[in-house]
Amino acid sequence: MIRVEDLHKNFGKLHVLKGINAKVDKGDVVVIIGPSGSGKSTFLRCINLLEYPTSGKIYIEGELIDKKTDVNRIRQKIGMVFQHFNLFNNLNVLGNITLAPMKVKGLSKDIAEDIAFEFLKKIGLEDKIYAFPSQLSGGQRQRVAICRALAMQPDIMLFDEPTSALDPEMVKEVLMTMEGLAEEGMTMVVVTHEMGFAREVGDRIIFMDGGQILEESTPEQFFSHPENSRAQEFLSKVL
Ligand code: ADP
Ligand code: MG
Repeated sequence: MIRVEDLHKNFGKLHVLKGINAKVDKGDVVVIIGPSGSGKSTFLRCINLLEYPTSGKIYIEGELIDKKTDVNRIRQKIGMVFQHFNLFNNLNVLGNITLAPMKVKGLSKDIAEDIAFEFLKKIGLEDKIYAFPSQLSGGQRQRVAICRALAMQPDIMLFDEPTSALDPEMVKEVLMTMEGLAEEGMTMVVVTHEMGFAREVGDRIIFMDGGQILEESTPEQFFSHPENSRAQEFLSKVL
């Protein structure tokens, strides 16, 4: 689904990604962990073409992404959920979820609304269909943001610290929604500090620091016997 070869990203003189190599297969749940500033968001943003790599190659479903690639076509395959939900505050839940399927995919209002309702029902928010973001809790907003991404029927979902901005009591409902998605076989790349989720739901853990992948292993291996000294240090602080 995703292959990344020797990816480098500079912001001016700042060398943020220093040769990332990674592969994500269909149905994989890859969890990226690492200290703040290590380049995790930049890595995700390169996969979703929100940033353009300085060098290196990214393949999405076998297709090499380059300057000629139709960004909108690729982004339709990849849903992204951010720390701050970025919902449109002037639209209700239904409006938020149906906007892109109608505008970008050209679906009719009826079909887009059917899809929205189906996903809202699945995550138990169908009674909020006409609510505005300001009327929802943080956890509900983030679940709506997940619904909105899913409504585009992506093949891959990227999550960038989806629970970091939430009050503690709302973290679980969002993680459970994500876990449900993983169980259905969605291909997912998740940046998170939720070590419980990483251990329980992740198929693979990628540990990043200083713009590099320092360790990549199974959750069992990573959490019981991390090999890299910086991974050991990181875990000693967060566990
Ligand atoms: P993480 O998500 O792991 O916390 P980021 O990918 O957000 O790390 O950032 C990695 C580094 O790149 C940081 O030093 C950050 O300040 C820098 N950076 C990120 N985005 C930009 C940008 N658009 N312009 C300049 N520097 C950036
Ligand atoms: Mg980040």
